[in-house]
Amino acid sequence: MKVSELGEFGLIDLLAKMANVPQAGPASGQPLILGIGDDAAAWRGDTSTQLATVDSLIQDVHFPSGITSWEEVGWRAMAANLSDIAAMGGQPRYALASLALPGDTEVVDVTALYRGMLALAEQHGVVLIGGDTCRAPLVIITLTVLGNTKDPAQPILTRAAARPGEPVAVTGELGTAAAGLRMLTEKLQFAPEVTSRLRQAFLRPCPRVAEGQLLVEHGIRTAIDISDGLIADLNHICTSSQVGARIEVDRVPIHPAMKASFGDKALELALAGGEDYELLFTGQLEVINRVKAAAACPITVIGEIVADKGKGVTLVDSEGTPVNLGKTGWEHFTPE
Ligand code: ADP
Ligand code: MG
Repeated sequence: MKVSELGEFGLIDLLAKMANVPQAGPASGQPLILGIGDDAAAWRGDTSTQLATVDSLIQDVHFPSGITSWEEVGWRAMAANLSDIAAMGGQPRYALASLALPGDTEVVDVTALYRGMLALAEQHGVVLIGGDTCRAPLVIITLTVLGNTKDPAQPILTRAAARPGEPVAVTGELGTAAAGLRMLTEKLQFAPEVTSRLRQAFLRPCPRVAEGQLLVEHGIRTAIDISDGLIADLNHICTSSQVGARIEVDRVPIHPAMKASFGDKALELALAGGEDYELLFTGQLEVINRVKAAAACPITVIGEIVADKGKGVTLVDSEGTPVNLGKTGWEHFTPE
């Protein structure tokens, strides 16, 4: 069987079974808290819970050559990793960078890549402490980021704690990054302020590190970052928590300029586009309202967790009528 027949998540499941990660959790007496299956792995350290995540950006898969600068590629590579630590409610601390490059890559391009990576790292107090460099037929940047919780007693945000009846909420606006990618690849023309907002959203996403910590401090226990798309990532929460979810599509926050520029496509981009690096979370309504009052960014309730796990994520309009959407998110190896 080919990898493309199994799909990204089928392959991860297969490899996870082989890895045979010891049963984690507080009752196990193991230092390991979370192995494969969440935004980051977590284990009990001496002074706090330790977190680790790894992500790759690959030329032509994640960054179409020619439309993004090297600095922007570096920024995005760091953003994807910091976002996974944010989705655990942790503080990122250290990064390791593995760089695969063709020999004819210009040195100034590599230093530009590092400038972008280090600029975002510095904003979050993250220090680059090592890595690896090797020759390859195309550019691949793999970053590992290590982080931790503020203190050992602080819980982490997981994908597995959602309960029926809890509202589902998101930070910021959705679909702007995917709209930016589409604008760049299809060379779409918009007003300068719209162009710069869409470009910024795709190429310089800001991981919600402070917001992740705010969620934990206020009592939220379930979150994921939106890297693959709202529906796909909410599905990960549903699978891990053994629940379903209903999204009211009219409540999904979309920037007005994006809506005006993309019309009917705007909703699809917001639901399935991916790479927004916003946080998707669930919790009691009064807790979400407290988070909303304390957060510097918009927080929007967009639906609810339901007990029926059979259907995964369902979409409805404001009257409760089901809405259908073709593509539900990004998965490697699945044909577009
Ligand atoms: P994210 O989108 O948050 O980066 P992924 O969907 O890439 O998460 O991964 C889901 C889970 O599977 C994570 O816990 C990740 O560490 C794990 N994982 C992904 N690929 C592999 C692999 N090749 N071997 C072991 N674990 C993997
Ligand atoms: Mg993630």
